[in-house]
Amino acid sequence: MTPSKQTRTLNEQQDVRLKQFKIAAATYALAFPLLFLAHFAALISWPYALASCALVLIINAVFFGLFTSGANLKFEDASLTHAQTSAGIFFVMFVAYGFDHDRSLVLIWCFVVLLFGVFRFKTREFVVTTLVILAGYAAVINLLMTFKPQTVNVYLEWFQWATLAMVLPAFAAIGGRISALRAKLAENNAELVTALSTIQVLANHDTLTGLPNRAMFNDNLQQAIARATRSSTQLALFFIDLDHFKQVNDTLGHPFGDSVLREASRRFSSLTRDGDTLARFGGDEFVLLVENLRDTSDVHAIAHKLQSVLEQRATIDSHEVNLSASIGVCMYPAHGDNAQTMLANADIAMYQAKSAGRKQYCVFSSGMSDQAAEKYQMETALRRALEEDRFRIHYQPKIDIASGRVTGVEALIRWEHPELGLVYPDRFIRLAEDTGLIIAIGRWTLKEVCERARAWDEMGLPPMIMSVNLSASQLMHADFVKDCAAALKAAGRKPELFEFEITESMVMQNPEHATKLMEELRAIGVRLAIDDFGTGYSSLAYLKQFPVHTLKVDQSFVRDLPHNRDDVAITRAVIAMAHSLKMNVIAEGVEREEQLALLTAEGCDEFQGFYCARALPENELIPFLKGRNSGHRGNVTSISAKHGG
Ligand code: C2E
Ligand code: CA
Ligand code: CA
Repeated sequence: MTPSKQTRTLNEQQDVRLKQFKIAAATYALAFPLLFLAHFAALISWPYALASCALVLIINAVFFGLFTSGANLKFEDASLTHAQTSAGIFFVMFVAYGFDHDRSLVLIWCFVVLLFGVFRFKTREFVVTTLVILAGYAAVINLLMTFKPQTVNVYLEWFQWATLAMVLPAFAAIGGRISALRAKLAENNAELVTALSTIQVLANHDTLTGLPNRAMFNDNLQQAIARATRSSTQLALFFIDLDHFKQVNDTLGHPFGDSVLREASRRFSSLTRDGDTLARFGGDEFVLLVENLRDTSDVHAIAHKLQSVLEQRATIDSHEVNLSASIGVCMYPAHGDNAQTMLANADIAMYQAKSAGRKQYCVFSSGMSDQAAEKYQMETALRRALEEDRFRIHYQPKIDIASGRVTGVEALIRWEHPELGLVYPDRFIRLAEDTGLIIAIGRWTLKEVCERARAWDEMGLPPMIMSVNLSASQLMHADFVKDCAAALKAAGRKPELFEFEITESMVMQNPEHATKLMEELRAIGVRLAIDDFGTGYSSLAYLKQFPVHTLKVDQSFVRDLPHNRDDVAITRAVIAMAHSLKMNVIAEGVEREEQLALLTAEGCDEFQGFYCARALPENELIPFLKGRNSGHRGNVTSISAKHGG
């Protein structure tokens, strides 16, 4: 609770106490007319009646002083219930002593005094008060017998005492019960109030960052649009998505991911002005709404600031991280006239910024929505393809140049699209990576190739190395190595008969981390290859560290062999270097005999390419392999099939 809230409730409590005291004081006030009436009824003499009135005034003045000065707060029970009831009892006893007969009339007031205890007392305290009353009355009787014996009918007084002694405990018990119920009610009420306010906060805020959530933001946006319409002003909506957050989460764990989100939220908050709304939409998405935009150029300044505040270096939980975001901007009224359209368009612009290479911002334009629609359709179709089992693996043989034997196959995925026909991975792997679907697709692929490889072993085909391509996000996924080990174990095949192809650029994104993962993969026994070698920028220093068996020379260097002198030089250098590092070299994309001749001359170990075979579906691969095993061994046989994509 904030200090100001605390003082507020303290003041409220003091007000309640004062109010309760005023009720008590009003009850005392009734004593004045009654005492006068009693005097006229010859029940009490003037001196006693006046003394009683004075007593009332003194008692009330003392308590009033205590409550208004705040002195009551120094006591454990700031309501001074005990003191008040004791004073009340003392007053009643004083009047009873003053009465000359019919004291039972006065004693009735004891019940009124007890009733005040209902605000505070537990049953035990009621009983104590009851005993005080009985003791008080007993004392009064004794004093009367000593000092005013002529007014006392001893039997009657003790009869009255006995009646009180029977009735008061019952009254105390009931009072205690009422008081307990009242306390319980107050407690439930307090719980309800806290629960209600918690629910309200939870329903409207994100628990991680404390920012407004999607529901609250949608409300705010609608109201802001209404305001902007009335005042003919502009709004800007910034849709912010952190770059590579999934990877951060997968590699460094969710608690760390949470810290990153909190840090991002802090940084964005530092930029907001009064009237701006910053919200977290879930995941790594934030939105910022800026009202009363004077100039369109402000949008660029704000987007720029959002990016630079995030890109400042930071150490989070003792990890150094480089954060960046892709931002989509949508403006009212230019790009949408309702909350839903504005959010959708800001999202589209954000995706555009992602596709443009991340770490950028894009302002929405109408052409974007067609592209987005197409991409969305593709994504939905891709998801469905996974559910409907529409992926296929084709296998491209790898040939040992010296012996002409097939050493293995590379598994290449295809999508059998109901309308588009066979779709090649170039058209969907990137999208699968962006949407995270690659993890599920990768799992499916691994399971599929494990099953097929095992089936071929059982058919009696010579054991071959099965090469599988990996995506960066797949490799970086926290469970990848574990999943792999499980899949390979289930395949019941030697892990050395699997090779994972990892591209050079994937490895170079984060060489230390990639090396660690590669070592873990090596530990489960699989082989590793660097794919598309020569297109990235790996330094020799790193290459030496990578625990890989194979380097795959990228197709782009093979394409113009043997005529392009640069490519010849590069190919020669790569082969020499790989051999010096005790790695196997394989050339990709060999389509012509002259290419193979040069590679043979340079000492390349293996090749892949249309010159020998394209990637084949299983039903074509098996006859191909059988054909090569019986007879053609030792010769490279060209088959005329052409790459379809
Ligand atoms: P990549 O790993 O470099 O695969 C080689 C690509 O070159 C394949 O294209 C293959 O069909 C093609 N190719 C093979 N021989 C020749 C040739 O002689 N001439 C020419 N012009 N092309 C040849 P594909 O199957 O379309 O695959 C493209 C890329 O998609 C692959 O490049 C790989 O990076 C990725 N990919 C394929 N399957 C998977 C997969 O299961 N998972 C992941 N993550 N990526 C995959
Ligand atoms: Ca490959
Ligand atoms: Ca390649």
